[in-house]
Amino acid sequence: METLDYDVIIAGGGLAGLLSAREAASKGLCVAVLEEDLEIGVPERCDGLVSMKALMELGVIPSSRAVQNTVKRVLIYPPNGKPLEADISKQNIIVLHRSIFDKELAKTALSRGAELYLGERVYQAVEKEGYVEVKAKQTFNSKVYIDARGTTALPPEKQNSLLPAARYDIEAEWINQDTVEIYLDNLRYPGFFLWVIPTSRDTAKLGVAGRSINCFSTLDEFLKRRGGYPTKKVSAPIYVGGPVEKFVNGRIMLVGDSAGQTKPSTGGGIYLGGLGGVLSGQAAAAYILDGEEEALQRYSQRWLSLLEDDIRTTLYARRLFEKLDNKSLEKIFNLLRKKEVLNSIFEEGDFDRHSKSIRQLLGVEGIVKLFSIIASNEVKALFKQIEGLLNKKGRTIDGS
Ligand SMILES: Cc1cc2nc3c(=O)[nH]c(=O)nc-3n(C[C@H](O)[C@H](O)[C@H](O)COP(=O)(O)OP(=O)(O)OC[C@H]3O[C@@H](n4cnc5c(N)ncnc54)[C@H](O)[C@@H]3O)c2cc1C
Repeated sequence: METLDYDVIIAGGGLAGLLSAREAASKGLCVAVLEEDLEIGVPERCDGLVSMKALMELGVIPSSRAVQNTVKRVLIYPPNGKPLEADISKQNIIVLHRSIFDKELAKTALSRGAELYLGERVYQAVEKEGYVEVKAKQTFNSKVYIDARGTTALPPEKQNSLLPAARYDIEAEWINQDTVEIYLDNLRYPGFFLWVIPTSRDTAKLGVAGRSINCFSTLDEFLKRRGGYPTKKVSAPIYVGGPVEKFVNGRIMLVGDSAGQTKPSTGGGIYLGGLGGVLSGQAAAAYILDGEEEALQRYSQRWLSLLEDDIRTTLYARRLFEKLDNKSLEKIFNLLRKKEVLNSIFEEGDFDRHSKSIRQLLGVEGIVKLFSIIASNEVKALFKQIEGLLNKKGRTIDGS
């Protein structure tokens, strides 16, 4: 069978792969995206919560069709009792219709000259002398291969940082169109939370993730308590384990979820994975067109220099959060309520980088004392590590 030659082959037509294709094709490279599904953006797994600032940085302006809603408030519920409330209107956070959004990304990449193969599942990519051989239904040769296949391509040692997750589209009377709701409960949703992201006056995306939970029955139980019904159910894991050890190996680059480019706090990957896509596409162009040997490695260095410190702090904060029982969570909520600090944490915080909010949280008067009373020695040690990281910048990401 004939072999097809390209400068860049990208496996996976999700957000990261399509942004990578846009960048590489814009520079004049011959680019192909191989996507195993028959339609871009379907099935839609992501809830699409993202800041406009992040989209600007990625050079993307979604159409009005792709924007389902703008949110202005967040309610954070403790395991029992009343929620804390914060104004997030200054953060300019929108809810994307991910399947429409991804199609718009594909359209842009195609308009820059990239080619898209649908129903083309990549099952092998092997680096040979001076090129990469990519086996799908057809065989492709490329100067650079970009693996953007999502969480399925994560290395085995990172698989235990994949949390089972599910999301429903729901209809319910209690939904508040401008308010995101977060429910913390380390018994019901261990290691994560349940969320409600409104898409209109009476529709929302209801989701949950957590270690070893049955996500569908957890969401069913929530709906039974609050009321409402699902119109669509999807399950897909969320990754919270930090970046993989190496983004680049020879002529092969990993981007997006397959490189572990998500926030360890929320699993959000639109900004982090999108940035991976943009930088990897630019690196491929510098490597192929300008013959810069170090260009591919520079993609990795640039991504890490922008996000490494933030992710390292957030990884520690995640480990601390996972160790807290519900009683400790309640006490932290009570303190935050008393000090009335949540608004300023959200107002000054950055939706895409969480270490600033973690720093502010740890700076709340009384929180250090609270931790010394409620926490086990293990939690206290983690708390100290985070404090240390915030005081002096770390160099590597290993989360240990
Ligand atoms: C329930 C849920 C809710 C989320 N909500 C948010 C949110 O609100 N905000 C946010 O920022 N992030 C959110 N995320 C995370 C976000 O969706 C991901 O980080 C982001 O979409 C990753 O993009 P990607 O391109 O790396 O991977 P994907 O979007 O997974 O794309 C990978 C693509 O590769 C294709 N593929 C896989 N294997 C092959 C193969 N062998 N050959 C060819 N193609 C292949 C897949 O079909 C897919 O199209 C959420 C995730 C989940 C699971």
